[in-house]
Amino acid sequence: MNPFSTLGIRHDIVNAITELGFENPTPIQEQAIPVLLSGSNDFVGLAQTGTGKTAAFGLPLLELLDFEENYPQALILCPTRELCLQITSDLKKYSKNVRNVNVVAVYGGASISDQLREIKRGVQIVVATPGRMLDIINRKAINFSEVSYVVLDEADEMLNMGFQEDIDTILATTPDDKKTWLFSATMPAEVRRIAKKYMTDPHELTMGTKNTGNVNIEHEYFVVKARDKYAAFKRIVDFNPEIFGIVFCRTKIETQEIAEALMKDGYNADSLHGDLSQQQRDRVMKRYRERSIQLLIATDVAARGIDVNDVTHVINYSLPDEIENYTHRSGRTGRAGKTGVSIAIINSKEVGKIRQIERVIGKQFTKAEIPTGFDVCEKQLFGLVHKVHNVDVNEEQIEQYLPRIMDEFKDMDKEEIIKRFAFLEFSRFLDYYKNAPDLNAPAFEERGGDRDRGGRTSERYDRTSSRGDYTRLFINLGSVDDFTRGDMLGFICNQSKISGKAVGKIDLKGVYTFFEVENSSAQQVQDAFKSVDFQGRNVRIELAGDRGTEGGGGGERSGGYRGNSGGGGFRGERSGGGNRGNSGGGFRDFSGKRREGGNSGGTGKRDGERKRRF
Ligand code: AMP
Repeated sequence: MNPFSTLGIRHDIVNAITELGFENPTPIQEQAIPVLLSGSNDFVGLAQTGTGKTAAFGLPLLELLDFEENYPQALILCPTRELCLQITSDLKKYSKNVRNVNVVAVYGGASISDQLREIKRGVQIVVATPGRMLDIINRKAINFSEVSYVVLDEADEMLNMGFQEDIDTILATTPDDKKTWLFSATMPAEVRRIAKKYMTDPHELTMGTKNTGNVNIEHEYFVVKARDKYAAFKRIVDFNPEIFGIVFCRTKIETQEIAEALMKDGYNADSLHGDLSQQQRDRVMKRYRERSIQLLIATDVAARGIDVNDVTHVINYSLPDEIENYTHRSGRTGRAGKTGVSIAIINSKEVGKIRQIERVIGKQFTKAEIPTGFDVCEKQLFGLVHKVHNVDVNEEQIEQYLPRIMDEFKDMDKEEIIKRFAFLEFSRFLDYYKNAPDLNAPAFEERGGDRDRGGRTSERYDRTSSRGDYTRLFINLGSVDDFTRGDMLGFICNQSKISGKAVGKIDLKGVYTFFEVENSSAQQVQDAFKSVDFQGRNVRIELAGDRGTEGGGGGERSGGYRGNSGGGGFRGERSGGGNRGNSGGGFRDFSGKRREGGNSGGTGKRDGERKRRF
């Protein structure tokens, strides 16, 4: 028997959730369902998203409501459109075998007339974001006088977003004897206060310790110099080739810049922030869910309510202004029993913030080192080796080509073939990471603590200068052709009959080299190489132009070894609005100072409501 039946869920619903793969209740479902099914308690559940809380309250609701009747009996309030749609869709899935269940999603940024029409047709469960709900109440288009259950989902987020007043007004239209079920990932004083205000003697359930992050999440921090941040971030990503991550930035601009730089560098990335229209955001989320995007670069506000399973890494490219947001960010990974890693990339002065977060989440961070170029290459190389080892060959597909392939390799032994395949696949990034600098910076604790002292100092990356009186040229020979820099200088000078003094910086790579020559000699060099062979190969010299331009991005080459093949294009115009603009207003930041306004825009309407103190 499915254990959900033992908990008291009827078989029609158990059948539906079994199809969804719910074989055993999650801890919160196991504990909350029997309590909520009694229908006689107010309830406070301290639980993160990803713990199965939607079913924890959704299944009891489906048992308790009377679907023969078509009036609103349950109201679920949640902070974001995404969550609203998610809950609605989940409830519909759970109840697909139950007759006449009507669930309506009420949220901003979509046609209100469609929502009004749906309400008019008859509905038992309303899932809503507070702003649009209030709008509909003000139009007298809904009657909540017979509501028996109100669920406040992600209550801390709703308060954080300044919905307190709206919630008060909405709840005032519901009967006094309704039952209120509140779910929250964290329990700051504000949530305590609303629990007290709306509930009598609630049954409390805590999953894990209070304010503790999910136990499945490892927390790591990396200390780097500000100018090395992007390069360090890319190394972390390169070190984790299978990453499926959400990268949090503090501002829309930063979000966009990082996403665009990543796309340019060949990563599958895109941004999600409040300047995108709802349609654009939906499109990005669809691509992320489908995994066409590997890295989603997001602001806190835009990422609220994102419900994607199997996120392997959350990366705090910038730490959040409000400490509690760290919990929300990291809660996007380690969902549904999976493990996940939450990473913070910080500068030396931010170690104190890590300690503050540790106190809030009740877990310690591990200080990790940015992998060296060698580490990354090794990881990637063996990733491929393992893939080759484990690949399931479709014999039928490859069969027709095999004789010819075998014929091509008949003169080479196994070792030689393996070496060549490995080299070919990896020369791109072996080359990219050759001479890659150490990006770790020393970390300083506040007030001179020494916990992280001894971190390695980052070297300066030796960037190719591009002086105005030199021309930068590309030649298709490099270290794999057994050239040293001296050899290359000699080769160029002998061939083009110029003095060594006319040659500037030589940047020797694996299969090619960039070098500078005085402008006055540039043409002579190019002409001299027009018909030169090197070991049977045609030597090519070209103006470097944009090819392999270096710089940008704080000390490491801005291009990635992945080249420019991946990652979607740039979107067209970005229309404003769409987002409710919620992080404006006052709150306390890490320094304890009061900050005015947030980074993700805001209507300013609810200023003064948004306070977070630690
Ligand atoms: P939630 O915390 O409600 O957002 O749920 C997180 C994810 O876990 C969702 O994808 C659910 O479909 C899934 N889930 C919830 N309950 C169970 C369960 N008992 N067994 C398997 N998956 C579940």
